[in-house]
Amino acid sequence: MPQIDRTPSPVDSRPHVVIVGAGFGGLACAEALGGTNIRVTIIDRNNYHLFVPLLYQVATAALSPADIAEPIRRIVSRHPNIDVVMGEVTGIDRTAKRVELADGSFVPHDRPYDRLVLATGSSYSYFGHDDWAEIAPGLKTIENARRIRARLLMNFEQAEMCEDPARQKALMTTIVVGGGPTGVEMAGAVAELARFTLARDFRRIDPRTARVLLVEAGPRILSTFPDDLGQYARRKLEELGVVVLTGQAVESITPEGATVGGRFIPAGAIVWGAGVKASPAGSWLGVETDRSGRILVNADMAVPGVPDVYALGDTAALAGDDGKPLPGLAQVAKQQGEHLGGGLEASLLRGQPLEPFRFRNRGNTAIVGRSAAVFDFGTRKLKGWFAWVLWAIVHVYLLVNFHKRVLVTMQWLWRWATYQRGARLITTDRPVSAAESVTSPHGGSAEPFRDVRRGQG
Ligand SMILES: Cc1cc2nc3c(=O)[nH]c(=O)nc-3n(C[C@H](O)[C@H](O)[C@H](O)COP(=O)(O)OP(=O)(O)OC[C@H]3O[C@@H](n4cnc5c(N)ncnc54)[C@H](O)[C@@H]3O)c2cc1C
Repeated sequence: MPQIDRTPSPVDSRPHVVIVGAGFGGLACAEALGGTNIRVTIIDRNNYHLFVPLLYQVATAALSPADIAEPIRRIVSRHPNIDVVMGEVTGIDRTAKRVELADGSFVPHDRPYDRLVLATGSSYSYFGHDDWAEIAPGLKTIENARRIRARLLMNFEQAEMCEDPARQKALMTTIVVGGGPTGVEMAGAVAELARFTLARDFRRIDPRTARVLLVEAGPRILSTFPDDLGQYARRKLEELGVVVLTGQAVESITPEGATVGGRFIPAGAIVWGAGVKASPAGSWLGVETDRSGRILVNADMAVPGVPDVYALGDTAALAGDDGKPLPGLAQVAKQQGEHLGGGLEASLLRGQPLEPFRFRNRGNTAIVGRSAAVFDFGTRKLKGWFAWVLWAIVHVYLLVNFHKRVLVTMQWLWRWATYQRGARLITTDRPVSAAESVTSPHGGSAEPFRDVRRGQG
């Protein structure tokens, strides 16, 4: 048996930066510090970095989870100064300068951190109705994307076996809540799944008659985009058969459907893409936050009143050049991470002060289905096929490694040419028998999402 070397390791005198969250912001910050003479520890509750903008493609069977997720260790493996800890952060000891994990351990365990970066992102807000989350999952995690995929596909299977026309209609109805980019992309993708991919695969139902409703409480969809792009997106969705309901809020959600604008709509699946709230990082520190729970940071992303702690991305609120808070976008988080990483290196190794962050808008975009997208660059706008190609190029380029870029490009080209989707799997940990299925084929009660168990793929 090999001997274990128990000689105490020499004290590491390098400055130590701890980063919580390996999303767009945290990872960019870590990579900017890669290869320097700074010890970096990145903590995440998952062992992978997730490319959230393409989650809706996992939920609609176009891509597999592994296509859009990459192990954090592999991403940073080329930088020996970066260490990875998999763990759920539950608090911060500001005095001892260490981070507490759910298992009761602390990071760093040997000495206080020199700098702490909080990049823990956001989650969906159900506006005080947290019980809706179980019935109407949001697109934020791989687990939820797989649950949604399984639910959507299972609904068609059950509709095929169902002899009650009302129940069949409900099973073939999907409600998407929230008319922002996520809701628009999801509604378009579900409509395409039914209208094209599944069109010829069933014998007793016609998947093309499936209903997709996009519900938005505000007066129009894509409210952060210029009006004409919002109108274009609405027209394109309606061409795909999506019913767009604006100015109508969701009043209640039950396993059988949702009440929208005073009317109950029976539905087999409800997907949430409405409000967003920041991670609880602000409460870990006991500092001031905005209404969405984002930490109000200084221009250099320092948390006021808490020495050596910084916050960025979706979990921080920082005003842009126009005085409005920067939007919760991957490009904002990524640029902030790169900026802060470079600034921390200069500050820790050369004693230079941190510079204020300035966001460079690379364009806000949303895809509206096959061959249609919108792009808003602030001064210029794009819509249609060219915007769609640009959307695809940008998203492929932003994927973490070359292998994934090739893989996703091939799948998109194949899908574009054939309308087929390669990830049409209803996966569960154990087989779904008829007795276990949510709805009796002949018209029992539907429990959207509750039955779909976790599995592989
Ligand atoms: C469906 C969807 C589509 C989107 N599309 C786009 C788009 O097209 N373009 C765009 O620019 N933006 C898009 N966004 C927004 C973008 O994804 C976010 O703005 C971006 O992910 C924010 O980056 P972040 O680093 O702040 O957080 P995240 O990328 O969310 O990363 C947070 C990380 O922290 C980890 N974490 C959280 N809490 C803890 C904890 N307690 N302990 C340990 N680890 C923790 C998480 O596991 C995660 O890895 C989309 C968002 C969604 C939900």
